[in-house]
Amino acid sequence: MPQSLKIELTKNKKQQPAVDQLGFGNHFTDHMFIMNYDAGKGWHSPRIIPYQPIVLDPAAKVFHYGQTIFEGLKAYKTDDGRVLLFRPQKNIERMNRSNERLSVPELDIEPTIDALKQLIAVDQDWIPNAPSTSLYIRPFVIATQPQLGVAPSTQYQFIIIMSPVGAYYSEGVNPVKIFVESHYVRSVKGGVGEAKTAGNYAAGLKAQELASAKGYSQVLWLDGVHRKYIEEVGSMNVFFKMNGTVYTPALTGSILDGITRNSIIHLLKHWNIPVEERQITIDELYEAGRNGQLEEAFGTGTAAVISPIGELNWQDQVLVINGGQTGELSKKLYDTLTGIQMGKIADPFGWMVEATKVYA
Ligand SMILES: *Cc1c(COP(=O)(O)O)cnc(C)c1O
Repeated sequence: MPQSLKIELTKNKKQQPAVDQLGFGNHFTDHMFIMNYDAGKGWHSPRIIPYQPIVLDPAAKVFHYGQTIFEGLKAYKTDDGRVLLFRPQKNIERMNRSNERLSVPELDIEPTIDALKQLIAVDQDWIPNAPSTSLYIRPFVIATQPQLGVAPSTQYQFIIIMSPVGAYYSEGVNPVKIFVESHYVRSVKGGVGEAKTAGNYAAGLKAQELASAKGYSQVLWLDGVHRKYIEEVGSMNVFFKMNGTVYTPALTGSILDGITRNSIIHLLKHWNIPVEERQITIDELYEAGRNGQLEEAFGTGTAAVISPIGELNWQDQVLVINGGQTGELSKKLYDTLTGIQMGKIADPFGWMVEATKVYA
C-alpha cells in the first residue's frame, strides 16, 4: 500500500456474545479494515475504522453485475495467548487469482497480510479460545463505480470484517446427509467456478433450498456437462476413501482450489496414506458403496474444517457411508488439523503464522 495505515478506534465497544452463543457469522468485531481503488491511482487510503455500514451509490456496479470477490480464513488464540493464522498467504494469493478472473485489480500480498494482522491486533480481545471456536475473517472486494455500463469498474473497495465463531455445524462434527444434485449445476469449466465470487453461491441457493426441504444439509455438485463427475459440496471440497486410497476430484477448472483440501493432501502424504487427485464418477462411487469398498467420505473447508458425510442421495438411491458414523481417518484428520491450528500439536509444515501484536 502506498500510504501508511490510519487507525481510528471506536468509542463504543460492543458487548461480546457468550462463547456458547456464537454460532457462525452472526457477530462482528469492533473494527474493520477498508481501502479504496481508483483507476490511475491504485489502492489507496488504507484504514482501520469502527465497524459500520458502508454507503454506496445505487448504481455501484457490484449490485448489477456482481463484480465482487471474497475470501475466508481463521485466526486462533492458543492456550498460551498467541494468535495464529492458518496459511494466510494462500488466501490472498487465491484472492488475486479470483480477482484476475473477474477483472478486479490485484492486491499487494505482504501489505494486505500486514493490514490483516494490524486489524486482528486491534480486535484481539474478540478471538475466542474455547474448543472449536476461532475468529473467522472475511476479506472482500466490491466494484463501486456508479455507472451502468457492462465493463470492469474503475473504482473498488477492499474490506476486511471479522466474526468470532463457534462450531460451523451446531450438531458438532457429526456426519451430514448430502443430496447429489443432477438437475442444477454450480459451474462449468471456463466459467467462474474456480473463483470465490458471489454469483457461484447465488446460483447454488435454489438447489440448496430444495435439498434442505428434503432433510439434506448440503448439495453435492456434479459436473455441468455430463452430470457425471463429482465436483464439490456447497462450500467444501470432497474426499472419498475407497479401498485404502483417498480420492478427491482433480482441479479441472470448475472447482474451488481449497486451502483445507491442499492441507489434507499434504497431511495424507506425510502419513504415507495413498491419495489421488483425479476425476471420480458418481457411478463409480455408488459402485464402490455397493461393493463395500467406500470406507469414508468427508468435505473440507475453512468453516467446518472436516465434515464427515454419512449419507448420499442420488436420484432417490440412498447410500449410507460407514454406517452413518464418523470414520477413523476423518476423525484423525480433524483432530490433527484443528490441533495444529489451535497450536496444540506441532506444525511440521510451517503453516501457522503468528499474528504478532503490531499495534499496542
Ligand atoms: C471456500 C470454498 C471451499 C473451501 O476452501 P478453503 O480454502 O478450504 O476454505 C470449497 N469450495 C467452495 C465452493 C468454496 O467457496
